[in-house]
Amino acid sequence: MDPRDLTLVLARILGPAGPPGPEVGCEACFGELDRFVELELAGEDADGSIPGLRAHLAGCPACREEHESLYALVSGERVP
Ligand SMILES: [Zn+2]
Repeated sequence: MDPRDLTLVLARILGPAGPPGPEVGCEACFGELDRFVELELAGEDADGSIPGLRAHLAGCPACREEHESLYALVSGERVP
């Protein structure tokens, strides 16, 4: 077998280099945060609907802070 073929096969299995799982950047995170919080508050599967966002929040203090304030804001709006 040509070693280059093996590299291609491995690349297909392992995917692009980088951390495993879907990667969410800050821009995508901010774009989806509204929907994520809505899903969380609705008791829906927010993690399943927006994969990788929870992981991004765990590793990104700026977005985590944004998530917390948005969560407080949206949940506060729901209080009758
Ligand atoms: Zn971020």
